[in-house]
Amino acid sequence: TLVLGVETSCDDTAAGVIRRRPDGACEILADVVWRQYDRHAPYGGVVPEIAARSHVERVDQVIVHALEKSGHIPADLDAVAATAGPGLIGGVMVGLTAAKAIALAHDKPLIPVNHLEGHALSARLTEAAPFPYLLLLISGGHTQLIAVAGVGRYRRLGSTIDDAAGEAFDKTAKLLGLGQPGGPRIESAAVGGRASRFRLPAPLARREGCDFSFSGLKTAVRLAAEEIGTPTGQDVADLAAAFQATAAAHLAARTGRAMDMVEADFGADPRLVVAGGVAANCAIKAALKELADRRGWRLIVPPPKYCTDNGAMIAWAGAERLAAGLVPSLAEALAFAPRARWPLAPPPPGRAHGGG
Ligand code: ATP
Ligand code: FE
Repeated sequence: TLVLGVETSCDDTAAGVIRRRPDGACEILADVVWRQYDRHAPYGGVVPEIAARSHVERVDQVIVHALEKSGHIPADLDAVAATAGPGLIGGVMVGLTAAKAIALAHDKPLIPVNHLEGHALSARLTEAAPFPYLLLLISGGHTQLIAVAGVGRYRRLGSTIDDAAGEAFDKTAKLLGLGQPGGPRIESAAVGGRASRFRLPAPLARREGCDFSFSGLKTAVRLAAEEIGTPTGQDVADLAAAFQATAAAHLAARTGRAMDMVEADFGADPRLVVAGGVAANCAIKAALKELADRRGWRLIVPPPKYCTDNGAMIAWAGAERLAAGLVPSLAEALAFAPRARWPLAPPPPGRAHGGG
């Protein structure tokens, strides 16, 4: 099956074309991403109105380019998939509407995809990652541990009680004057830093379960920077390294607790899958690798370009839904309204907050 995927939920305008082979393997035929960094940079963060306008300006070109690269025309497609949420509503509307138009014009099934499901299944784009697996989703807006039993079968074990991991990298980079995008800037700055110089508190050390917290860590970095006064390049490198090491240790510690929760059901070859933009971070990957090796788990992390937002993962989620028979009628799909909020799995019982 051949699927076009459109992604416009944040500040990347992206389209991808993939083929799902009968054996379930994926071939990525095209993956085009137009990043809007430059347009948001002057404001120090993503401006929703600018994002929406930029998606309108480029979405057609990006889709046409992806189709050309794949060597296909719309008539060849088996389905069109688009992110329908969660995300910045103006942007989601642009991509979803473009996909609706293509599906309607060419009479193809339309698959509204949950962006988080795109991330959740992204490991299967490039590797055999059989179900079930434990998913650590670490992106700009979400930080969650989810037991993935199959396509559309997600159980949330824990999530952040304040900032998302990527958000913490972005905010910390900003307060250290490193600019955006924060994650990669912190990672490069940390290369020349000594993490051991600052002792930052480990978040939620005494709390049961596998929730996360990052805002205290960010504040600890701010206080340490303020104590220095005017940090030198070396101070910033040391602070970045300390932040990154503490964040990595926190992610690994909480993931270890989630492993305890599911291990009994996961059989002899348990798997940990990491997804979302923060999964591009090498220090975090190393901490998770150490955890997985120690526990006898297999660690699966997609290549960095499929960790951050892209169209191929949305096309793939669409193909997986198609294969699982989880596709609405065209009339239902055309009536599907974009969603700013759309949890992939409900929070565990007794917990109020739904985002994370
Ligand atoms: P969501 O998927 O939750 O809606 P998003 O789509 O904006 O959020 P992604 O594109 O998955 O998030 O990831 C972007 C985030 O990943 C940003 O916060 C960015 O700082 C972070 N990030 C990217 N590369 C790295 C890195 N090398 N180290 C740490 N963080 C990184
Ligand atoms: Fe994302």
